[in-house]
Amino acid sequence: MDLKQYITIVPDFPKPGILFKDITTLMDNGEAYKYATDQIVEYAREKQIDIVVGPEARGFIIGCPVAYALGVGFAPVRKEGKLPREVVRVEYGLEYGTDVLTMHKDAIKPGQRVLITDDLLATGGTMRATIDLVEQLGGVVAGLAFLIELTELGGRKKLEGYDILTLMQF
Ligand code: 5GP
Repeated sequence: MDLKQYITIVPDFPKPGILFKDITTLMDNGEAYKYATDQIVEYAREKQIDIVVGPEARGFIIGCPVAYALGVGFAPVRKEGKLPREVVRVEYGLEYGTDVLTMHKDAIKPGQRVLITDDLLATGGTMRATIDLVEQLGGVVAGLAFLIELTELGGRKKLEGYDILTLMQF
């Protein structure tokens, strides 16, 4: 299946000059969403995954059906102030300023094998921060899976040494 036909490219969103890749037109198509999910599940099956992790909010959309299919749990990564119990945190750089991501301290047990999912790999900053959280908790990052990779932004460089699956490249 050619998944790219289900991605809508939206010019000037959220800012002038940006060509936003809208995945909602893939998600709202049952066949396309299932096909994309199945590709990631197949990738994950060889990796003996214990738990899936994804950053809010689109990382949930990709990761939760994968966790369900594998029969493993899902642990959310959220912006600061959203999780109710004790967290680990990481600060990471954005184009302007910084942001913070958090995870519950007991979300992962040391040695657990983790698949991290997100919708899109751009500069790799979000994924790098998510990896740091998982590793702070003693998790072993066994694979990273994305629907889309924006190849010109060089995110792969920031993620050197990790196994990466991307289903579409732009
Ligand atoms: P990075 O941290 O790799 O620079 O940016 C990736 C993050 O930004 C992902 O969590 C992703 O959801 C979001 N993102 C950036 N650009 C786009 C885009 O064009 N489409 C979508 N769907 N998400 C984007």
